[in-house]
Parts: sequence; structure tokens; C-alpha cells
Amino acid sequence: MRRREFVAGVGAMALAARARAAALPAAPLGSDDRPSRIAGPAGAHAANGGGSAPAPPLGSDDRPSRIAGPAGARAANGGGSAPAPRHWAWVHGDAARSPDEWRRQFARLRAAGLQGVLASGGDTAALSAAARGEGLAFQRWTWALNRSGDAWVKQNRPQWFTVSREGRSSLEHPPYVGYYQWLCPTRPEVRAYVAGKMAEIARDPAVDGVHLDYIRHCDVILPVALWPKYGLVQDHELAPFDFCYCDACRDGFRGRTGRDPAKLGDPSADAEWRRFREEAVTDLVREVAAAVRAAGKPVTAAVFPTPSIARRLVRQAWDEWPLDAVFPMAYHGFYREPVEWIATATREGLAKVGDRFPLHAGLYLPDLPPDALGRAVRLAMGAGAAGVSLFELDGLTDAHIAAFAAALSG
Ligand SMILES: [Zn+2]
Repeated sequence: MRRREFVAGVGAMALAARARAAALPAAPLGSDDRPSRIAGPAGAHAANGGGSAPAPPLGSDDRPSRIAGPAGARAANGGGSAPAPRHWAWVHGDAARSPDEWRRQFARLRAAGLQGVLASGGDTAALSAAARGEGLAFQRWTWALNRSGDAWVKQNRPQWFTVSREGRSSLEHPPYVGYYQWLCPTRPEVRAYVAGKMAEIARDPAVDGVHLDYIRHCDVILPVALWPKYGLVQDHELAPFDFCYCDACRDGFRGRTGRDPAKLGDPSADAEWRRFREEAVTDLVREVAAAVRAAGKPVTAAVFPTPSIARRLVRQAWDEWPLDAVFPMAYHGFYREPVEWIATATREGLAKVGDRFPLHAGLYLPDLPPDALGRAVRLAMGAGAAGVSLFELDGLTDAHIAAFAAALSG
């Protein structure tokens, strides 16, 4: 998969940061000229009644986790009985690094207390060897429904792409950004195709698990901090960004309810129509999970920050999915929220998923200077997260590493 960013795209954070600066002048802002990944995943101290008491080592609870699966656990720890990784980093694997340099970078992560990487692009075997060589679990970070990087499907199956309420294909008229080209999960053949692709990745012995990204519909509403970038006020669902009204979706919904979604007065007010699209994504996740597990690997996903936001913005009912672990992108800056919101979001997610699968809070480094990162880690863990995941390796300074390690040591 090519190196790509969330809908905000390269440079978007500078704009988003300006918007935030206007709204939240006191908020500490990170280095905001980094590529963003959004629209496109209170500490132990707080939980223990204050910041002064020694906290237990973060991640010391025994929440069951199947995240790395047997292969990952062995790879990361040298034995099948070791605990699953808790702390992860997203890694753009297509960065120009020699095998030695990858190894050095992964050693940095390991020394800081991270235990796994979620890597996109690059050479799977080489990246995996470097990660495992440093004791890290290696999951492949991959795009599920956004298939802009899939030349075959774009060439051969254009009818599989989603259609907006305006009747425009996301293949020919991608919304927001040129790479927003999405397959429609309502189509059984799409679900089978994507599941097959994920199974292919899972069968690679170099891979300890499959990490799904873009496992959702296009953002019908962007996170609020991104509205200025696109000159939009998305206080309701706008037709150009509302998907999917393809023939399969219209026929399927008509068959279920007798109504044509293209002829609803206010589609956003129709609970069944919203639910229909959430269930299509969930059905896909079920098929993907079955296919990946048939290859003996766990399946994880990067998702929007809370179940309610995920449903409202991108039709993602992730608390209903059969995952081995979830990585909600608790990117507070995109929602113009303070860092404390990371705990709020984590709690909301955990209230829904319970102990069905572990939750690892995704933390967005450009909005987290080192001190704030330490606080964010404590907030997430104090709220009950099984661990965190840092976006992403290239934004992780030595000062971040030190702050992260200090937060883990209490
Ligand atoms: Zn459709």
C-alpha cells in the first residue's frame, strides 16, 4: 500500500491547528505541519486518586488479550506463554531506511516500552525481520475499503465503488481528496474480495496479525477541526459526502424496508437507513475476521475515537465487531478537545466493548508534545485501556520516547 494519509492529507494539520488555535488559545499545540491521518486511530494516577502515589506499572492488569495471537506472542517474546503486546506504534514502512536503520528504530521503540508495530507499505519480510529481531510483534497495517491503491479493482470492477447521494461514484469523483475511492461493503462480492485480500496478508508467515484501516464508509461529516480546510460547515449530512446509494444499497434497503434511500426526504433522520450501512460494514468485518483467523492470525482495527462518533461520522459500529483488539484514534485535536478527552473517549469505548476485546488508545503525536504524551498515556491507561498506540514512528522524538518510558514506569 502506498504511503497515504487520512483525508486531511499532507499539510492539513497546519490548517487544522490554526482553527484550533483560534478556538483554544491556551491549548498546547504540537508541531502541526505533519501529515495527518485522521479522516482517515487519566492515568493510572488519576484512577488511583492522585498524581503523587506510585502507580502500578501500566498495563499490569490481566485483561485478556489475543491481540498478537500465538505467532505474535512467540515472535515478540520468544515463547508462547508470554503476554500479548500492549503498546504499539504505527509505522510507515515505505520510508527509505536500510535494514540496519529499521532495526535501530525498532530497538528505540522496544527500549521505550513499546511491544509491537503496525506497519504499512515497504517490504514485509524485511520489516518483519527487523521488528521481530528487536522483540516486537509485527502486524500489517492495511487499507480495507478505501482501495485507491488497488489498481486491479479500479480497472476491473468500477461498479463496486460507492456512490454518493448525488449519484456520483467515489471512483470517478472522490470526495474531499483524490484518494477517497471506496468499495461498497453491501456487495457480497466486495466482502469476499476484501476478505480474500486480508487472508492473503494473514497467510504470510512474516505477519503476526492484520490491522485494518479505512474499514468504514467515507466521512459523511469530518472531525470539526478539519472543516476549515475544506471550507465546509458540516453541521448536518451533506449529499456529496453521504454514501452509499449504489444499486446494491438501494435494492437491498428497498428489499428490507420498501423504501428507496435515494428518495428519502432526510436520509440522516432515517435510523434504519443509518443502521443498514453500519451493518454492511460490520458484515464485512465478520467475513474479514473469519478469513484472517482461518490463517491463524488475529485481526485488529484502527477506528474513529468512540462508538458514537464512529457511527455518526463514518458508519462504523466498531463495538459490535468481532475483533481481537481495537485501536480507537483518540485524536483529541481533531475534535477540538483537551487532552483529558482521551480518558473520556477511552471510557466510552470500554463501556461498550467490555472485556470482549482489548482497547488500545491511539495517540496523535503532532498534538502531543512530550509532556502531553506522558499525560495522555496516563489518561488512557487510567481509563482502562489495555495499552496505547502512537501515530507514528516518524513523529516520535527522543523526548517523546523519554516521556513515554517515564509514563510507563509510573
Ligand atoms: Zn453501496
